[in-house]
Amino acid sequence: MKVLKFGGTSVGSVESIKNVKKIVEACDEPVIVVVSALGGITDKLIETARLAGTGDSEYLTHFKGIIHRHHNVIDGIVPEKRKQEVLQIVNELLDELGNIFRGVSLIKDLSAKTQNTIVSYGERISSVIVSRVINDAVHYDSREFIKTEVQFNKNIVDFDLTNELVRKTFKELPKVSLVPGFISSDKKNNDVTNLGRGGSDYTAAILAAALGASRLEIWTDVDGFMTADPRVISNTYVIEHLSFIEAMELCNFGAKVIYPPTIYPVYHKNIPIVIKNTFNPEAQGTLITQDSASGEGKAIKGISSINDTCLITVTGLGMVGVIGINYRIFKALAKSGVSVFLVSQASSENNTSFAVKNADADLAVKVLTEEFAQEIEMGEISEISAEKDLATVAIVGENMKHTPGIAGKLFNTLGRNGINVIACAQGASETNISFVIELNSLRKALNVIHDSFFLSNVQVLNLFITGIGLVGKDLLEQIRKQQPNLLKDKSLRLNIVGLANSKKCLFRREGISLDHYEEELKASPLSASPAAIRDGIIQMNIFNSVFVDCTASNEIAGIYKDLLNHNVSVVAANKIAASSAYDNYAELKRIARKRDVKFLFETNVGAGLPIINTINNLINSGDKILKIEAVVSGTLNFIFNVLSEDIPLSKAIRLAQESGYSEPDPRLDLNGQDVVRKLVILAREAGYRVEQSDVVKKLFIPEEYFQGSLDDFWKQIPKLDKEFEERRKKLVSENKRYRFVATLDGGKVEVGLQEVDSKHPFYQLEGSNNVILITTDRYKEYPMVIKGYGAGAMVTAAGVFADIISIANIR
Ligand code: ADP
Ligand code: ASP
Ligand code: MG
Repeated sequence: MKVLKFGGTSVGSVESIKNVKKIVEACDEPVIVVVSALGGITDKLIETARLAGTGDSEYLTHFKGIIHRHHNVIDGIVPEKRKQEVLQIVNELLDELGNIFRGVSLIKDLSAKTQNTIVSYGERISSVIVSRVINDAVHYDSREFIKTEVQFNKNIVDFDLTNELVRKTFKELPKVSLVPGFISSDKKNNDVTNLGRGGSDYTAAILAAALGASRLEIWTDVDGFMTADPRVISNTYVIEHLSFIEAMELCNFGAKVIYPPTIYPVYHKNIPIVIKNTFNPEAQGTLITQDSASGEGKAIKGISSINDTCLITVTGLGMVGVIGINYRIFKALAKSGVSVFLVSQASSENNTSFAVKNADADLAVKVLTEEFAQEIEMGEISEISAEKDLATVAIVGENMKHTPGIAGKLFNTLGRNGINVIACAQGASETNISFVIELNSLRKALNVIHDSFFLSNVQVLNLFITGIGLVGKDLLEQIRKQQPNLLKDKSLRLNIVGLANSKKCLFRREGISLDHYEEELKASPLSASPAAIRDGIIQMNIFNSVFVDCTASNEIAGIYKDLLNHNVSVVAANKIAASSAYDNYAELKRIARKRDVKFLFETNVGAGLPIINTINNLINSGDKILKIEAVVSGTLNFIFNVLSEDIPLSKAIRLAQESGYSEPDPRLDLNGQDVVRKLVILAREAGYRVEQSDVVKKLFIPEEYFQGSLDDFWKQIPKLDKEFEERRKKLVSENKRYRFVATLDGGKVEVGLQEVDSKHPFYQLEGSNNVILITTDRYKEYPMVIKGYGAGAMVTAAGVFADIISIANIR
């Protein structure tokens, strides 16, 4: 025989009960079917009781809801010929329940005993209904054979008595026995008790163990035991096989799919548990047996979490070396029925921290303050402190045993993502490492652990992209096209979790589809400001996140520091930060290093050309940069190359702007500012401490052209056309060309217009191309040359994309 337990959702609706019927009737051996209350009913009963207990007549509305829900299900599922009978039994039960509620509301008193009676109606009614739906089912009342006694203020199963009664009751097994889960009764006075929330699983396990079932099947609403709580993170998957120990560790720590005590009875009898999905019976489910599937080889099998955590700390120098302090702590807690689920004590012995549920926190502090009143008064122990609203996470797997490096990897992963571990514990069995963190980091923690231990086999980068101009648009298009390939070939998922232009911003944790992002952004109710973008990203507190700045905005560059400090990597096409005051640049780099995130800006110089990376590689491998000569203004180069008899200076500038080669405001290119910035960045990356003000500028457009507005500039600039045409003609006749060159030479920095002859390496430089000559200790006689497209939305976007991908750990 086997025992099948169907949870609340499995008996929550007409459709689901039809599934239950099919599943049970397909069994060809005798089965005991344990059912929960209809999904949500236990919560409703508790809420209704609470209202009644305060005398709030609103309880009646809730109660009507409960009646309605049951009537609807009866109406939809019970065969006509049995409807009358079922309605009669159920209505009698509901009448009793109504009377109890009325009594509670009249005397405004809700005792534990009454509450236990009230919640028992959920299972009592559901089991009656289901027993009349499944063919040949015999209905039982588990209060008659699941017996409890009070220990430490809790109702605990009396196994000797229960096993005896169960065996007696089921001596003759009908084909289908239908048993309400959860409910029990006190062995002394027969008062209704229960096995705790989620306790139907336990009922089923007790029956399976007492009767030596061939297996215990837990039918629920998910395909099996998942690698983490599927309600918190999205990329979980079903674990095919767990050992009893692993399952126990996982559910003790909050994996709601099985009620923790469930494992013990069947574990002792070595009865396998199978978790199955009532809504997808074909799915294989999870098998739980003595041995775990060691073949899978993964160090950790699953992650579980409890979001309801309070950390209590008893600390004081008076504890050091004193025997019996921990005994007193836990005795006092046990006496008052406070359950502790994590304990941590440093070997210095001067503090013991432990985790309890938030609801138990005040009581725990009270009893400990009483217990240690004397020591507290003498100053040997500090006031007992409680830190509420935390979360506990546990990683579990029998393969962790004797595998070095798991804790290291775990804490490194958490640290890199800015998650602070407040307390931690690992037992010598090495099957579980648990730690306490801030509640608002829970989701992030689960995600990063899931990712870094490759439970999911897919790495995720969460991107916030700001600035949807020429570069930003191209970048989004490149990402859109490349997303499927990266997922397929590199197991890398690029998830766009935020977008902003100058007007609006949009955040979506699950990812924004790039098919209609423009409309979505337009329709977003959130207006964009640097502060709103920064706060939105920080509040989202999402793992592996990367902020991508495709703007040219000062203010956006101003939020990098806060983002880096919150462990968000920054990829900037925007040059402002890297060329700002040296101290700011250095601080951003320092924060990124400290936080173990990235601050990348390869496209600040030469768009997609690998210039900054190359300089870094040279320096990191011990080379010294002696000199850099570079044409790094794609715009200026484009302008000088396009100048001709037909295209005067003013038109060339206009063309550069329209084709996206120049900054949106081309004056930034023409006044040398853009080249100055690039040179400053190059010099810094090459190891020199320079400021923009150190750069000597030799310009070709007089200063007064830059004074007014952009409009004024466009109006004025044609005045220079004639003079430039003459100079151009002269140069052509001398077989020379103009190049606007940035030079770093032994720490000195200069930008200026140079005339280069046909032998110079800069002479041949088409379109908007850039060229950079790097002279180093190792590349002295023949400097290193990097040359190619140095501007343009497409290659800049590609460079930004490459920076983003370099943050992921892919090959
Ligand atoms: P039932 O009513 O069938 O007893 P529960 O709601 O008690 O169902 O438990 C099933 C739920 O547990 C799932 O719907 C899922 O949301 C949640 N859950 C939490 N952690 C896990 C996990 N690790 N694996 C599977 N489900 C989990
Ligand atoms: N109905 C009870 C509860 O909701 C028991 C169970 O579902 O297992 O807690
Ligand atoms: Mg449950």
